[in-house]
Amino acid sequence: MAGLSRRALLGGAVLGAAGVATGVAGTPLVRGWLGLDRPPVSGGYAASADHLEAVANPGVSIHYYARTTEPVVAFTFDDGPAPHWTPMVLDELDKAQVPATFFMVGRNLSQHSALVDGRLARHEVGNHSWKHDDLATEDLARVGDDLDRTQAAIRKYTGRTATLFRPPYGHLGGSTVLAADQRGYDVVLWSMEMHENTYKGDPAGQARDIVASARPGSIILAHDAGGDQRLVTIRGLAAMFDGLRRRGFRMVTVSELLATASAKPLPGPAAVRAIGTR
Ligand SMILES: [Zn+2]
Repeated sequence: MAGLSRRALLGGAVLGAAGVATGVAGTPLVRGWLGLDRPPVSGGYAASADHLEAVANPGVSIHYYARTTEPVVAFTFDDGPAPHWTPMVLDELDKAQVPATFFMVGRNLSQHSALVDGRLARHEVGNHSWKHDDLATEDLARVGDDLDRTQAAIRKYTGRTATLFRPPYGHLGGSTVLAADQRGYDVVLWSMEMHENTYKGDPAGQARDIVASARPGSIILAHDAGGDQRLVTIRGLAAMFDGLRRRGFRMVTVSELLATASAKPLPGPAAVRAIGTR
């Protein structure tokens, strides 16, 4: 029994290392790594950089927030453009003269480009995939095609070229990171978000939450598409902008925010939190 167990263990180790072993009578036995159909290199959704000539920037940047002592925050609105909410968000931004970053879904932009036509002068546009698929489950070629198709729509309808990419659901697989890297995107996640279910029917509460929680360099996640819960955010925007300005904050685009990041030795998150606490 001990010998059998040992052989089984060794067999497992070989399978784990190579993903391929020889079964009975010499029949090739192909097993996946950890039960997957294929090993996590040379394709699949955890693509490694196995063709180095394809890696443009071997060190893609992924940002949750900017390390800065400047009192700046960036509002981001995802998933649009969409009827109803996108025009209302743009109206609120216009009234307060606040710049924002819209992470657009390519298909939505191609269908609703009129909603943003001529209204983006102050704002930044980022890539949020073609139709909000979970790119972390797709291979490198598909992720690349998705990003390129979305970029083409952004160029066509806004005249901009996106340099920022936010993965749908904030999900990142190796193939997504590599596709973003190959195209020179900065990957942007977030450090704060709206809590529309917590503040159901209470835009003022949502606004107080954001104003109190903001820190220098915060990237704030909101949406300009989706269900009626978005109204909590949209109706609270004016109070958010007003409250943040009273605290001395400026609202900027994500690219402007990242440009303020310090290249000096970095304070820890606790130190960053302490800055701007009043
Ligand atoms: Zn999204």
